[in-house]
Amino acid sequence: MFLIFFIILIFPVNFKAETFPKIFGCFCEGGVITGNLENGSKLKIDNKQVEVFEKGRFIYAFGRKYKENVKIEINDKVKKFTVSKKKYKIENIKGLPRKKVEPSKEDLNKIISDQNKIKKAKLIGYKTRLFNEKFILPSKGRMSGFYGSQRILNSKPRRPHAGIDIAAKEGTSVIAPSSGIIKLVEEDMFFTGNTVIMDHGLGLISIFAHLKEVFVEKGEKVLQGQKIGSIGMTGRATGPHLHWGVYLNNTSVDPEVLLKYELN
Ligand SMILES: [Zn+2]
Repeated sequence: MFLIFFIILIFPVNFKAETFPKIFGCFCEGGVITGNLENGSKLKIDNKQVEVFEKGRFIYAFGRKYKENVKIEINDKVKKFTVSKKKYKIENIKGLPRKKVEPSKEDLNKIISDQNKIKKAKLIGYKTRLFNEKFILPSKGRMSGFYGSQRILNSKPRRPHAGIDIAAKEGTSVIAPSSGIIKLVEEDMFFTGNTVIMDHGLGLISIFAHLKEVFVEKGEKVLQGQKIGSIGMTGRATGPHLHWGVYLNNTSVDPEVLLKYELN
């Protein structure tokens, strides 16, 4: 009797879990999830319609402060997942030139023009997946800044850090962490200096900042591992380092998640 009861109790749970499509990536703050659904599938995440691309692909990002649970609806199936919390560091950065922390009125015009260019480059571009299953580090060096850190620049609290920093000698190679197409190449932006933005497809983009040299052009197709530039300290920087930021439709993603988790 007990055994029958046990089987009835366990079986429907297992059955349900098996029929829900496999989801890749990290259910965590700053995380990204991907999957491959049947053609014509409908997807809703937290009651919002999410685009299903060719071959049933989808991608979704959890921001820096996502709530604890996420509800995923695929056609008529519903499942709830837990989004794990992260602890964020406080980064105190001193010695930045004053004009880079408290810009003048003239500088504000340049900042707005830069930000508009970056905003445009962040918009969804290629609707095919260009990114590889796993990302690789774009440069060798010391991790000097982490995703999501609360930043205090010259004693002034500023926006959380939307990426990671890799400190290395000026001129150290910067390579493409994943395949994609170059969407923006700009010299001397106010904050990010010599800047490259790469489109990995499906709305996922990488930004590389403070570069010394740039070896790619807008529109160029770049493969994972290909040299795109070198480390510098252009823009707002206290020393030579690469800032690598990743966004999905303007939601900032933790690049370290893409190094650790396989995406479908
Ligand atoms: Zn940075």
